[in-house]
Amino acid sequence: MQLFDFKFDKGSVWLVGAGPGDPGLLTLLAYKSIKKADVIFYDALLDDHILSIAKPKAELVFVGKRGNKKSINQLEINKLLINEAKKNKRVLRLKGGDPFIFGRGGEEALSLKLNKIPYKIVPGTTAGIAGLAYAGIPATHRDFNTSITFISAYGAGGEKPETINWNSFSKTSQLIVVYMGLERINWVCSELIKQGRDKYENIAIISNATKRNQKVLISNLKDCSINFDKSIIDSPALLVVGKNVLLSPILNWYVKDKENINFFKERKNNYEYYNSI
Ligand code: SAH
Repeated sequence: MQLFDFKFDKGSVWLVGAGPGDPGLLTLLAYKSIKKADVIFYDALLDDHILSIAKPKAELVFVGKRGNKKSINQLEINKLLINEAKKNKRVLRLKGGDPFIFGRGGEEALSLKLNKIPYKIVPGTTAGIAGLAYAGIPATHRDFNTSITFISAYGAGGEKPETINWNSFSKTSQLIVVYMGLERINWVCSELIKQGRDKYENIAIISNATKRNQKVLISNLKDCSINFDKSIIDSPALLVVGKNVLLSPILNWYVKDKENINFFKERKNNYEYYNSI
């Protein structure tokens, strides 16, 4: 096997991560497989520019969630992947970020394995890494953290996951990155405060990370949920809690427009008071 092994066989399925938005973050394997695929099953978060790489004859099938409309379920997606592979097509399952980070890639890979369909996993840059970089937040910084915690605020059935041990995370997680947390921001912040995090600890909300309309809102655990402007901060978004957030106003390189780093106006002094590097 060569190091850069590109062979997209007919009758196989590739589970490919497309990164969080910026098409420049596609890996070479992702790019080449999108060009080559006969059918692409894609999710809601994907940028149209990425889909435009597909060959003109490729079939593009949306299988993501759209608003509150009933969406196709996971078993149906698994079945589609298997059926199309059995038709001897090159099947691409294209996902936002990384397929194995809160992306149900494991479920799909298992069903392919059980049905003896050849498959390949192409990792992508997960939002919780790339999104932070585009917001000027180093995911690790030696003065601040030696670990990162990724949390999903939604369980498999849409519930608040009982497996999140807020007490333990609160005490031991130096940098917490919450996926799917915007709708549950009150819950996330209040649990963290309840379990001992300083209510003035920094939180960044990064919305539409790595896309042209990326926005970063910086606040603290106590204040962040009150009245943030939903027309500015929208899904998809990440919540980032920890000292590393301090660096965002300094290192933010992606969006030059000052408006795109937002503090609550009346909270800016507060932020500066609590944060001196
Ligand atoms: N597999 C994906 C995560 C899917 S879960 C990955 O590895 O990134 C969906 C959640 O990911 C969203 O609710 C949001 O929290 C986060 N997310 C994905 N793309 C994002 C983006 N461009 N900006 C901010 N958050 C994003």
